[in-house]
Amino acid sequence: MPIGARTLRWFALWIGCLVAVALVSCGVAAGAQPVATQGVLDLRQWDLASAGAVRLDGEWDFFWDQSRQSLTEASPKERIRVPGNWLQNGHPAKGKAVYRLRILTRPGSHIFGMKLYEFPHSYRLYANGQQIVENGRYAENPSPNGRSLVRPYVTFAARGEAVELLIESVNLDDAEPGPRRSIIFGLEPQVRKVQENQLMADVMVTGVLLIMALYHLALYLQRRSEMGSLLFGLLCVLMILRIAVTEEHYLHKYFPQLPGSIERTLDVFSFFAMVPMFTWIFSHFFRREFHPWVHKSVTGVFVLFSTAYLLVPSSALFGFYLWFTVLVASYLLFVLLRGVKHRRAESGIFLLGFLLLAATSVWDMLSYNNIVRTVYISHFGFIAFIFAQAYVLSMRFNQALFTLEKLTLNLESLVAQRTSALEDSNRRLALLNITDALTGIANRRHFDDMLQNEWSRAQRNQRPLALLMLDIDNFKAYNDHFGHQGGDACLQAVAKILAATIHRAGDTLARYGGEEFVALLPEFTAEEALQLAEKARLEVETAALPRAAQAAQAAQAAQAAQAAQAAQAAQAAQDVLHGGVVTVSIGVVSLVPMQANTADQLLKFADDALYQAKRQGRNRVVLVHLS
Ligand code: GH3
Ligand code: MG
Ligand code: MG
Repeated sequence: MPIGARTLRWFALWIGCLVAVALVSCGVAAGAQPVATQGVLDLRQWDLASAGAVRLDGEWDFFWDQSRQSLTEASPKERIRVPGNWLQNGHPAKGKAVYRLRILTRPGSHIFGMKLYEFPHSYRLYANGQQIVENGRYAENPSPNGRSLVRPYVTFAARGEAVELLIESVNLDDAEPGPRRSIIFGLEPQVRKVQENQLMADVMVTGVLLIMALYHLALYLQRRSEMGSLLFGLLCVLMILRIAVTEEHYLHKYFPQLPGSIERTLDVFSFFAMVPMFTWIFSHFFRREFHPWVHKSVTGVFVLFSTAYLLVPSSALFGFYLWFTVLVASYLLFVLLRGVKHRRAESGIFLLGFLLLAATSVWDMLSYNNIVRTVYISHFGFIAFIFAQAYVLSMRFNQALFTLEKLTLNLESLVAQRTSALEDSNRRLALLNITDALTGIANRRHFDDMLQNEWSRAQRNQRPLALLMLDIDNFKAYNDHFGHQGGDACLQAVAKILAATIHRAGDTLARYGGEEFVALLPEFTAEEALQLAEKARLEVETAALPRAAQAAQAAQAAQAAQAAQAAQAAQAAQDVLHGGVVTVSIGVVSLVPMQANTADQLLKFADDALYQAKRQGRNRVVLVHLS
């Protein structure tokens, strides 16, 4: 997805905030300031009140392998660069030393403030011969010695034109010996402001990370399939842990009795774990761009190194891991760029967040090595990265929701479609169930149902119910002559004529079977039924459907010859003469059902009447006379 203007503005705002926080938390005069030379920092031309606090950078007096008590000589043998370490002066890491700096100030009495950062193992700070702070537990032999982890902010009153600072320090491990960062010195309110800003920034970062961690973990609890949420939640937790054991060393501040080794382990481990964590996250979001073996081998290296470091905490191991981190970070950047190239939806925002994190980390490296001089800002870069991915996650959720809404809409319309189709086919099926396939009028099954219904109703109401039974005359001959298909066409034509004639609402015309039809007529008296039957017979006759005259004749003749009945022969002859058209014979009955009667009796009566009609010469209507 191309990065929208809105996103860009969002990030611009973020960077603005970063710069502002960096500047505010700096609180120290920017630009040229006096530098210590030969153990003296001359601030007589520097008005602390208006020009701001200064860094105690430059050449300090240095007394190797000395403590304050043993310090006798007034002029030192050597000097040391602060910030920096005494390895540069050719001394071993382990050992003790005294740092000294004379600060020349404007005359008067002042309350000064100082902010100190990382230093050797433990130290004591003296101002004008008075101990201001002991950081760690200062002792020259290892057993009672305690490591200094916090970054003290101290204040002291001084009168006169000079302040003599003395720091006696002991280093009992491999750690870099010496103040890595500038010591800040100024009037008490100025340095307090530096301290407060630092505190505020840390609290802010921790608070934001905590909320993000809770948010992502809660998201994961809601949706176990979203591994991205879990990974980011854990990353935030890891970062909170890291902040607690680095920077101002809050963990140590609040739990000073916690062994330094645990804190050191946490520090290293939280850093080591960042590498696989980032790799997991990237492999989760950029599956296609990521080689699975990279993800696995990074995890493997992490396990290997952290185990090794636990056993032998060597700085060489740490150095190796640092290079490994740079390598992995480059690969992640490569993955991101590939994602951007493949136009992966999340890659643009991810890239921005990652670049911010990388840039602030590089900045901090420079700051760590005193190439630039600001507070550390990579935490803010980290938050930018977390926000970038939160944005990506919300994009994903949004997309999922959108798809869901669309799917639901589609599903609803699909269900509606299918339901109406089902209703349609049900209707058709029901119709098929009661319809005769050939003629399209009701079938025998429907007729049977209707007969039962109408019979019961007529019986209940004591109303007349009429029944016509119709049969096409000499249909066998018709079939024989015109073929079965011709016969079917005839059946259809007759059904159509009958349907046009017997069409009152409540009447039921049905194909009873073969070439026989029935009509059930509620409320019809014998008279009315007879009239309707006669009308139907006439309609069929006048429709003049051609009948196979010769075939009929032959059939009749053969029948007559077989039966040797003169009467029938005469009848056949008459029949042939009479027509040449299709005719029907109809038996008619109408009665008011008694308790004793059954519907079958009605059928039987009609059938009898039909038989009579056939006997009497066909093409006629016979009404049953009930006594
Ligand atoms: P009658 O005047 O005595 O009724 O003579 P008929 O030839 O009509 O009587 P019969 O019942 O012997 O013949 C009925 C014929 O109807 C027999 C059968 O071939 C034919 N038929 C029955 N059902 C169908 C059908 O669905 N289609 C066609 N084409 N013919 C059918
Ligand atoms: Mg028949
Ligand atoms: Mg017939």
